[in-house]
Amino acid sequence: MQYFPVFFNLAGQRVLVVGGGEVALRKVTLLARTGAVIRVVAPEVAPELALIAAAGTIVVTMREFEASDLDGARLVIVATSRHAINRWIASLCEARALPVNVVDDKEASRFIVPAIIDRDPVLVAISTAGTSPVLARRLRERLEALIPARLGALSLWLRELRQAAGERLRDTAARRRYFETVVDGAAARRFIAGDARGAERLARQLLATSAQAPPAAGEVVLVGAGPGDPELMTLKGLRALQDADVILHDRLVSDGILDLARRDATRHCVGKSPGSGGTTQEEINALLIDHARSGKRVVRLKGGDPFVFGRGGEELEALVRAGIPFSVIPGITAAAGVAAYAGIPLTHRDHAHSVSFVTGHADSRGIEPDWRALAAPRQTAVFYMGLARLDDIIEALLVHGAPAERPAAVVSQGTDVAQRVVMGTLATIAAEVHAARLPAPALLIVGDVVALHSELAWFEPAAQTSLSRSA
Ligand code: SAH
Repeated sequence: MQYFPVFFNLAGQRVLVVGGGEVALRKVTLLARTGAVIRVVAPEVAPELALIAAAGTIVVTMREFEASDLDGARLVIVATSRHAINRWIASLCEARALPVNVVDDKEASRFIVPAIIDRDPVLVAISTAGTSPVLARRLRERLEALIPARLGALSLWLRELRQAAGERLRDTAARRRYFETVVDGAAARRFIAGDARGAERLARQLLATSAQAPPAAGEVVLVGAGPGDPELMTLKGLRALQDADVILHDRLVSDGILDLARRDATRHCVGKSPGSGGTTQEEINALLIDHARSGKRVVRLKGGDPFVFGRGGEELEALVRAGIPFSVIPGITAAAGVAAYAGIPLTHRDHAHSVSFVTGHADSRGIEPDWRALAAPRQTAVFYMGLARLDDIIEALLVHGAPAERPAAVVSQGTDVAQRVVMGTLATIAAEVHAARLPAPALLIVGDVVALHSELAWFEPAAQTSLSRSA
C-alpha cells in the first residue's frame, strides 16, 4: 500500500494554495469548509476567488510565489498552469517536510486528494493511488447512488442518541447492540426517509425496552467461508462475520475473507496443521461453549461448507449438549467451487449421472469407501484431503475395475489466483502431480467429465497459464 489514508483536521490551520485558476478555486471551496486559514498566491485570480477574498474568508496575495510564502503553512496545494514552477515549489515543500499536493502531478505530490462522496460529517474517500481516474470516478458514481442523501444527518442524530443511550445502557456490548438495532432497523429507515420524529420515537421506545431486557445470551453461528475466493462467501456469511464478537476459524480460511470481519472481533485460528497438533476438537468445542456462555456472538468459520468434511456436525452436537443456541450458514464446498473454476461440470447428461464426495483421508477405524461403486462408469468421484494418499486412491480405483484411461485431474488452491490444474488419466495423474509439486489444499476429480476441462476452462490466473503451457 503506497498511500496511508487519513482525514486531516485543518480548523484554524494555515493552508497555502499557489495558483488562482479554476482548479485552485475548486480546492479553495472545499478547503474553506474545514475552517482552514487559506492564503492564495497568484499574479491573477479567477473572479470567484476575488469575490471570496472580498468576503474576507480567504487572503489573496496577487504576485508570483516566493519561498517565504511557505512559512507557517501546514499544507500546500500547488495549482499553477506551469509544470516547472509547480515542481520547484513541490521540491521546496519537500525540503521543509511540508505536505504538498501538486494538482494532476502524482510524482511531485507527497499526498493525493481522493474522490469523495460528501455526506458531511460522513465522508467516503476513494483512491486508486492514481492508477485509474476513470475507475475512481465510476466507483464514486456507484457509491453516490447507494449512499442515502441523509446519511450525514443520520450520523448527527446518532451522536445525539449516544448520550441518552450512555445513561440508560451501562454495558458497552448492550450499547453496541442497541445502536446496531437502530441503524439496521426501522428507526434509521424512517430517519433516512425524512421522518425524524417517527425515528426518534422508535429509538426511544427501543432504548426503554433494551434497558429492561436481561443481558443477551451468546450464540454460535457456524459459517461456511467457501473454497477460497472471498467473493464466494454468502451474503449471510458476510453479515455474520461483521456482527461477530469472536471468530474461531480454520487454517483453510483465507486472509481475504478474514479481512471482511468486524475489525474489533477477536480471532483465533484453531486450525489443525498436519503434524503440528494444533487445537484439538475437544478444545475447540470448549472454546465455542465458553465464549457463547459469556454472552459473545461467536462465529465458527470453516473452509467450504461446514457440513462437508468439516466436523460441523460434531461441534453442533457439543453445543446441543451445552444448551447453546446456534445456526448454520452454508458455504460453497470445495468440490463445487473448484469444479466451477476448473471448467469441470460434476455431472453431465452424456458423461456422469451422479457425483460422490469422498474423503481421501485414511479412516483410523479402517472403514473403507465403497471402491467398486466409485470405480463404476458414468459417474464422478471427488476426493477431499487425498493429496497425501493419491497413489493408494488410484490403486484402489484401478483394482476395483476403473479403466486406466479414465480422465483424472488434481486442482490445487482452487478458485484462488494461485489455482493450478493438473490433468491426466488414472494411469498418469499421480506422476504428473508429483512432478508439478502441487501444494495443498487440493482435490482429486475422477471421471469422464474431467475431459471437458480442455474445452470449458475459463479461469486462468497467472500461475495456471504457465503450468498449462508446460504441461
Ligand atoms: N469443509 C470443506 C472441506 C474441508 S476438508 C469444504 O466443504 O470444502 C479439506 C479439504 O478440502 C482439502 O484437503 C482439500 O481436499 C479440499 N479443499 C478445500 N479448499 C480447497 C481449494 N481451494 N482447492 C482445492 N481443494 C480444496
